[in-house]
Order: sequence, then C-alpha cells, then structure tokens
Amino acid sequence: MRLFNTLTRTEEDFVPADGRTVRMYTCGLTVYARGHIGNFRTFVSLDVLRRALRHQEGYTMHHVMNFTDVDDKTINASQQAGVSLRDYTDRYIQAFRDDCAALGLEPVESNPRATDEANLRAMVEMIAQLKARGHTYESEGSTYFRIATLPEYGKLARLDHEGMQPGARVDSDTYDKQDARDFVLWKATKEGEPTWDYGCGPGRPGWHIECSAMALRILGDGPIDIHGGGIDLIFPHHENEIAQAEGATGHQFARFWVHVEFLNLNHEKMSKSLGNVYTLQDIVDRGFRPSALRYVLISVHYRKQLTFSFEILAQADAALTRLTDFIGRLERVTGGEAHPEIAARVERARAEFRRKIASDLNVPGALGVLFELLREMNAAMDQEDGGAVGAPDAALIREAFEEFDQVLGVMALRRIEEAAPPVPEEEIQTLIDERRQARRDRKFGRADEIRNSLEARGVILEDSPTGTRWKRK
Ligand code: AMP
Ligand code: ZN
Repeated sequence: MRLFNTLTRTEEDFVPADGRTVRMYTCGLTVYARGHIGNFRTFVSLDVLRRALRHQEGYTMHHVMNFTDVDDKTINASQQAGVSLRDYTDRYIQAFRDDCAALGLEPVESNPRATDEANLRAMVEMIAQLKARGHTYESEGSTYFRIATLPEYGKLARLDHEGMQPGARVDSDTYDKQDARDFVLWKATKEGEPTWDYGCGPGRPGWHIECSAMALRILGDGPIDIHGGGIDLIFPHHENEIAQAEGATGHQFARFWVHVEFLNLNHEKMSKSLGNVYTLQDIVDRGFRPSALRYVLISVHYRKQLTFSFEILAQADAALTRLTDFIGRLERVTGGEAHPEIAARVERARAEFRRKIASDLNVPGALGVLFELLREMNAAMDQEDGGAVGAPDAALIREAFEEFDQVLGVMALRRIEEAAPPVPEEEIQTLIDERRQARRDRKFGRADEIRNSLEARGVILEDSPTGTRWKRK
C-alpha cells in the first residue's frame, strides 16, 4: 500500500515493521465538548485507513486512540461547569463513543485516558528520561523541554531554525509555528486545578507528553508504524511528540505520519473556537442519517480540504439510496445462469477498487469504480429478457460490494439504520404522551412542535379515534 508520509513529504510503500501487525497511534478527542463533524472527518478518515490495512491488506491492527482528558481546555470547561474533571470528561467520552458507533467506526484495540495512573506514571518516567539526557530544565515548579538540545527539532513541521527562540518558553498547549519555543512537559500546580505527584513535583502533564508516553507504553518501543491526526496537529503537537519520544529514547518515534486535511464551513476551518460547528446530533436533528455524513466525510480525498454543506449531505444520501436500491435489486434476482463475462467484469472492478485504495487511500477513485460497476450492472438487468444477470452473477456482484464496504463502511451502516426505528421507540411514546397532554391543555403550539420535530427525524404521527400511532416517513 502506498501512503503519503508527512515526515518525508512523499508517498511511500507502507508495510508494518514486522510484516504483520500495524502499530498505530491516532490522537483522539480532547473531551471538553462533543466532537464536531470536523473532528469526525479526521476520525472517519483514519478509520478508513485502519479498515484498508486490516480488511484489504490483511494486517492485524494494534491501534491506540487516546482521550485527552486533561489539558487547558478540559480544565477550564470543567471549572466553568462546576464539575470534577473526571465527571466532566466522562460525559464527553460517552458521547464520543456513541457518535463513533453511529458513524460506523470500528472499535480500536485501546482507548487510554491521559489521567489513568499508569499513563501519568509513564509520562513522569519519560520526563525523567528526558532529564537524564539533558533535554529539560525547571522553572517555578514546572518542567520544560529545551528545544535547542535537539538539533532535529522541527523536522516534521520543517521549521526554520533561524526563527526559533532559544530560552524563551511557552506554557500553553497550543501555539503557532512562529512561536517555536521551549514547551512545558509538566505544569506546576495552580490553585483549583487537579494535581498529581508521581515524581515531577505536584502538577499535571502538558498535552504533548500525554501522547508520546501513552503511545510507547501501550505499543512498545519505537518506531511505531503509523501516527496520525488532523493536519493542525503537525505543529506544535506532533513536532513536540517527536521531540519527547526521540529525546527520551534516542530512536525514531514513528515511521509514517498521516495527516487529514480540514473540513471547512464557509471557507473557514470548522472549529470550536470559531464557533462554526455542527455535531452529529445537529445533522440528525435535520433529518439526515449518520451514514450520509460518513459518506460525505470519505467522499473527498483525505489530503484535500472538504467544504461541508447540507446540499452535499443530501447528495450523499441519494448516492447511498442508489446503492441500497441496487443491492435490493440484486437480492431479487433468483433465476438465470452464470455469465463468465460478468464474473470477469466484477473481478476487474475488485482489482481496480483495491488499486485505488492502495494508492494513498483514493476513496473518491474507488467510489468511481463502484458506481461504474453499478451503472453497467443496472443496464444489464434493464435488458428486456432480463437474463443478462443470473442469480450466480448477482451473488458475485453482491460479494464484491460487501468487500468494497469493508473498507468504506457505509452500506452496512445504512442497513443497521434501516433496521432500527429512526427515533428510539420509548422516546416516540413519551413524545406522543406529551403531545396528547399538550392538546388537552390547549397548548397547540407545543403539540405541533412535537409532531414537526418527529417528522424531521423521520417519524410521522397518525391520529385516529383510538389514539396516535407512528410510522416511518
Ligand atoms: P481536538 O479534540 O481538538 O484535539 O481534535 C481532535 C481531532 O480532530 C484532531 O486530530 C484534529 O486535528 C481534528 N480536527 C479538528 N478540527 C478539524 C477540522 N475542521 N477538520 C478536520 N479535522 C479536524
Ligand atoms: Zn497526540
């Protein structure tokens, strides 16, 4: 498989170091809010990478995706909510798991939390190694990484050493490229902040040390095979992860660095700080299914920017409907015989699909192959005698689409959605009861609101003398 490596800025052949198991780390969500669909562009793209490595290339995965449950943002947000950090982040971890399941992400082998004791200890241990190798200094109870001690500092982000500011330091978790300075590894305790003391003095970890330490603790010694995340993580986060891991161990941290481009809204990066975000729930509230969102998120190559709109979401939904209608049509083919030319055509499509995916995850190209096959096979089934596609052919075509979907993960997701009621039945019943009461109380505005919001979610209410029933839209 060919994969673009940010470290070398070239596409390279990817094979795991041991030839069998891919040791992969992807930076997970900072759990201070519900993930937005920009975050999920990155997570879904990396899920497609995982699926391609596993189902197409046949590797075993050891994939770690962390939860950043302590950093500037999580601490501030939990303080504002007046909840303990653990309770606060628990909520968003659960929401993230729900969203991942709804978007058809395969569970990964490990989801560590930064604040689990074993992980905090691994961070402190890494800082001790860095100290022993002369990469750190302390100031006012905090420990910093001195970037001037690592000549390769800046190799991932391709920083110009001229612009670095030796001696100057930065405490915040995020900062700009122009601001390449010594960064914090362990922050001294501040009033009202959670604090741990495992050997670096009372305080808490900086964001960057969390990932380096958890990656090596769980995946074993570097180099790991792949490290991934969104493109905004290249600097400072991934640059600093490299500095820490390589400074501490003396050998390479990760062989391949994979970065996913932004999802934009109105020409701007979707981001919580700009406030231009949609969550999966917002999408569902507008009557779209998660499978349509997954389709949108994979339909543009992961190294190109994706401009989100509700129009493309509607188009994605229509494309998925075409796909499921096609599969339904194939299922209805019961007679007829096998045609060798169809078997050969399907085999060619399978090979082309695999080639596209193996070419730096060219999902748009792979979707092109899939729809070309769909068009041709529909045309064959349209022929008057109907005998151009026999049951054995239809079975082969379905098998091919199953194989495509192991990588794409959209059709199976749609099937699950179709099997489940669009809104949980208990919730529908509660809303029906609430509406009945609202009408008795002559609160007709509220009653209409309930009917309309259910309709937007795909549920139609039908009133009759014996009560209210619901059906799918
Ligand atoms: P965070 O929770 O901020 O650490 O972000 C989680 C992941 O989402 C990281 O890999 C980010 O790079 C990624 N991300 C954030 N915003 C976007 C966006 N608009 N488009 C694509 N990926 C994003
Ligand atoms: Zn990270």
